[in-house]
Parts: sequence; C-alpha cells; structure tokens
Amino acid sequence: MTSILIEHVDYLITVNEHNEILRNVSVLIVDGVITEIGADIQTSTDVERIDGKRKLLMPGLVNLHTHTPMGLLRGVSEDVDLQDFLKIVWAAEGAVMDPDTVMLGSTHAAVESLLSGTTTQLDMYFHHESAHRGARNVGIRHVGGPTFLDFPGPDNKTWEERLTEADRWEKVKKEIGGPAIPSVMCPHGTYTVSESHLSDLVAITKSWTNPMMTVHVSENAAENEDVLSRLGKTPTRILEDAGALKGDFPIVFGHGVHLTDDDFSLAAKPHITIAHCPGSNLKLASGALRYQTYRDAGIQLGIGTDGCSTSNDLDIFTAMRLSAMLAKLTSASVQTAPSVDIIRAATINGAKALGMGEDIGSIEIGKRADVILIDLDKPHLAPIYDINALVVYSVGKGDVSDVIVDGELLVKNGEMVKFDTEKLLDDVEAAAKRVRKALS
Ligand SMILES: [Zn+2]
Repeated sequence: MTSILIEHVDYLITVNEHNEILRNVSVLIVDGVITEIGADIQTSTDVERIDGKRKLLMPGLVNLHTHTPMGLLRGVSEDVDLQDFLKIVWAAEGAVMDPDTVMLGSTHAAVESLLSGTTTQLDMYFHHESAHRGARNVGIRHVGGPTFLDFPGPDNKTWEERLTEADRWEKVKKEIGGPAIPSVMCPHGTYTVSESHLSDLVAITKSWTNPMMTVHVSENAAENEDVLSRLGKTPTRILEDAGALKGDFPIVFGHGVHLTDDDFSLAAKPHITIAHCPGSNLKLASGALRYQTYRDAGIQLGIGTDGCSTSNDLDIFTAMRLSAMLAKLTSASVQTAPSVDIIRAATINGAKALGMGEDIGSIEIGKRADVILIDLDKPHLAPIYDINALVVYSVGKGDVSDVIVDGELLVKNGEMVKFDTEKLLDDVEAAAKRVRKALS
C-alpha cells in the first residue's frame, strides 16, 4: 500500500476528545494508519502527495442507517406514509431485487456515498452477501449482515434459510475481505420479527467475534401503536426482554423517533446508539426526534440517511444540517445541537456505535486513515469564521474533493480513482427499466 502525505491543509478538524482544530498541518498515512500529524513532515520518496492548501481535512462520515441497494428505487414511492411506502417498495423489491441487482445497487450506493464524503456505512438489506461484495468492490467500509423477517420477504427465504446464512456469515465476510468491520446481525424490526426469534438472534450474535446488531425501532407513531396494541410493549422493551440490550454487543436503533420515558431508561447506555435519520423522518412525516431530550436522557446519537427510496440520497452533510436545525426547532432553543456536537454525531459517535471508536471516527495518530478533504475554494464557503458551522450549514456533498478509506485513495479531485461510473449508470438505468415494468 502506498503511503500518502496530505500536505499543509488549511484546516484539520480532528474530532479528538478536545475537538481540536489545527491550521496549516500535514498528515502522513503509512499502511493505512495515520502515523504523523505536524507542520513539516519529512518522508522518503515513495509517497503519494495531496496538496491540502485551501482544503479542510476531517474524518470520513459514518452513515449509521441505510439500505444501500434501494438507490435503485430512488423516487419510486413518493408522498406516502411509512406503511404505504412499505407496500409499494416491497412489491418493487420482490420483483427486481435478486442477488445481481442487489450487488449493482450496493455498488451504485457505495460510489454515491464515497463521492459525498461517507467512508463507513451501516447497511441492512436482503441478499446481504451480494450487497457486501458490491460495496467492497468499490472500497467503502461497508457494515452489513444477515437480515431477518418472520415472513419470506422480498428475497423469499424461510427463517431456517436465513439462520443458515447467519451461521455462514463470519466465514463469508472473511473471504470477501476488505477493511476491518464488525459482524452485524440485522433483524428488521420488532413488528416484523417476534420476541422469541429476536432472542434466538441475540444468542447467535453473542457467539460471533466482534459482533453487533441493528434493528428498526419506533420509526413512527403507527409502528409504536401497532406493536403496543398487538404485543403490549414498546419496541425498545421487546428488545430488552429479548436480551438484546444487555451490553453483550453494540446495538444501533434505526430511527428511534418515538422512544418513551421508560424506553429512555432502557436505552441510555454507552453500547446503544440511535441512528437519527432526519431527512427520512421529515419526508415520511414520521415525526421529529427530540434531540435535546434524548441527549439529556443520556442517549447516544449518530446520523443516518435511511435508504434512498425514502431519503432520496445518501448525503450525510444534508442529514447533519437537518439534524441541527430540527434539534433547535424541537427544543425551541438556539443553543441545542452546536455544530461540533453534530460533527461528532456524524463521525466518532458513528464509529463508537459500531464498536470501532478506537479505529476510526477521528484524525489521531494510530488510527486507521478514513479521512476526507473538502475544497474550501468556493464562493459559498467564504469567508470562514466558524469552521464547524461551515461544515454543518454551508458545506455540501459536491465540495468533497478527496476520500481515503483505510489508507486507500478512492476519490481524487471529486472523481472515483478507479471506477467506471459511466458503465455503472447504464446498468442502473437498465435495472430501473425492470422496476418500472414491475410496477406498471
Ligand atoms: Zn430503515
């Protein structure tokens, strides 16, 4: 692996524990690890140099909740609520989402995400092996795993077939290779997987090396009411009773918009993180997560986009901005969600949520190099008074110039380094034709 020297960046947002911002520094990456940060770094000859002048360097963004292949369904189900959305989308998925299409969709999403500054994503989707292969081929740090429903679902698999896939997952993941990631178990939700089945999945997850779990929780009020009326408990209480919240592994709640006070007491733990998806929640009118109330209750928050069929893109910069604005609105306080907190949510909090807080999520010596450069030489990014606020409220995905994942330069000057994007878009359009036909 080539060493990379990023020279003389104007700003470095470290996201270390003191939230230090450094000026005019260089960063050396050797064998995928950040080995030096300083004003003047001397290196040997065999180093790829990136000019950091008029640029901002920060940790790569972590998308903590998404369904990557659903990019192929972007715009397919508009102006309907979650329940109607699921009816349309599950019909489309059942018709077109075979392993090949899933691999295409996850490839497509990985390219979109990298170009938008996301270096790690927590994914939940059927045919998880194909999704993982597609994303890994592009180079993003993709955390995906076996996805469970009590009924056959779009992939038409029985519960036993899903269990067999889960048994194989650690081995398959190792064969596929790529940057270090946890093994994630993905029960879809407490309204789609029974408590006893959840208990079985908890037992399997505990048997894995470096395990974690992710599950949809209290996304909208209708979900809470449905689960409460049928099962007599909230989704969070069901997870508690199924043994998923005991601290045996990190767990990420997708959405978690409608947690109750009782849920807070169960979920306010360091190994539990809510993936706040404000874009999807706003668009599906699912509700507004009460950011400050959650923070005051001791809940960990990361940021996600959700799948492209609800959020319409995989842009964490937009999700950061919406998180901050929504937090201020719901608390009626401008002091809520300062920019530095929002940046932490989209970087180090996401890394910690995956059990990877020691490896990625900040720019510090000894950490893996998942970093992005932002081109500051743009009218909408001048002048600069508050660099954190600039990132949250002014920087957009189109400002990302370079992206490095695990020490590998994947995006250079706003373009994929070794990926045929034109061919990809032709393949995506061919898949879209099948979707249109299936829904007509
Ligand atoms: Zn979701």
